[in-house]
Amino acid sequence: MERLRVLITVKTYPIPSATYDELVCTAGVTEQGDFVRLYPVPFRDLPWTQQYPKYQWIEVMAEHHKRDRRKESMRPDPESIRFYGERIETRNGDWSARGQYVLRNVSQSMEVLKDAQEADNTSLGIFRPKVVEDFVVEEESERDWKPSALAAIKQERLWETRRASREPVRKLPYKFRYKFRCDDDRCNGHTMMNEDWELGRLYWRHIDRGDSEEAAIFGVRQRFFTEMCAPANETYFFVGTVLGHGTWVVLGTYYPKIGKSGNPNEENLELFPEEK
Ligand SMILES: [Zn+2]
Repeated sequence: MERLRVLITVKTYPIPSATYDELVCTAGVTEQGDFVRLYPVPFRDLPWTQQYPKYQWIEVMAEHHKRDRRKESMRPDPESIRFYGERIETRNGDWSARGQYVLRNVSQSMEVLKDAQEADNTSLGIFRPKVVEDFVVEEESERDWKPSALAAIKQERLWETRRASREPVRKLPYKFRYKFRCDDDRCNGHTMMNEDWELGRLYWRHIDRGDSEEAAIFGVRQRFFTEMCAPANETYFFVGTVLGHGTWVVLGTYYPKIGKSGNPNEENLELFPEEK
């Protein structure tokens, strides 16, 4: 076990699992800007005081995985999670307090990340798509989780009263994907799932207040495509691979206005303007 200090940057929508009750991928960066995946984390079962928000520094004891070979994956001891300092906020649209860590290791493109995946099992990264062309919404063929996964969860609930009141998370009936191109000559374009927990939460907020599914989809599209990927924004995607498949998905977005990202590499350039 080693002690890690991680700035949490992404949390994915929970998925029931026969092995771990419920899977949430949480990931972030260290003070050096290296990526870390904390997995598995029984996130919704953590005491409230340990349910870290995004852009919160946490300290946690963790060890390397035996089965999960992805380079950045660490198995945390959930009991050891402690908040460290205050959540990092943006100020007047300035994201640099976050960007100095989050954007320390920006990749050029998905092509570069896939090369790194081949080379050393790289499975997390952040990059700035050249253009986000569309937001593709597709209905899931199954509207509920697989019975085997649900049965496993219910079985566990019988034994742990702490969990008895918590319902399994609802499955999203739609897949939401970004269609984009990278700033890379090799790029043929990508269509990648967005698995951000906040996207699912927004969808259900619409449904729970009585909106139709069409209206909920429109609301999600408005927020995650029209607003976050607006031309005035310097939008980056946090991406990661799915365990067992190696498929890349979007885990979260980073969407300051252009020039307000706090990219430390760009700031360094400006220290030496005569060299440009
Ligand atoms: Zn590409």
